[in-house]
Amino acid sequence: MVKFPEAEGRLFKNIFVCRRCKAKIKAPVLKVMAGKVKCRKCNYKILRPVRKK
Ligand SMILES: [Zn+2]
Repeated sequence: MVKFPEAEGRLFKNIFVCRRCKAKIKAPVLKVMAGKVKCRKCNYKILRPVRKK
């Protein structure tokens, strides 16, 4: 299977992971960058993209 960077971006673009409890949060990138998205479980504001590298 060939990797498509575009498809990959679509898959991971809107998913973030809470730095504290590692819950997955689906939210638009812009909202996360603007600090408008909080973790539902622990209200932690710092999220990272789901991709590790
Ligand atoms: Zn959390």
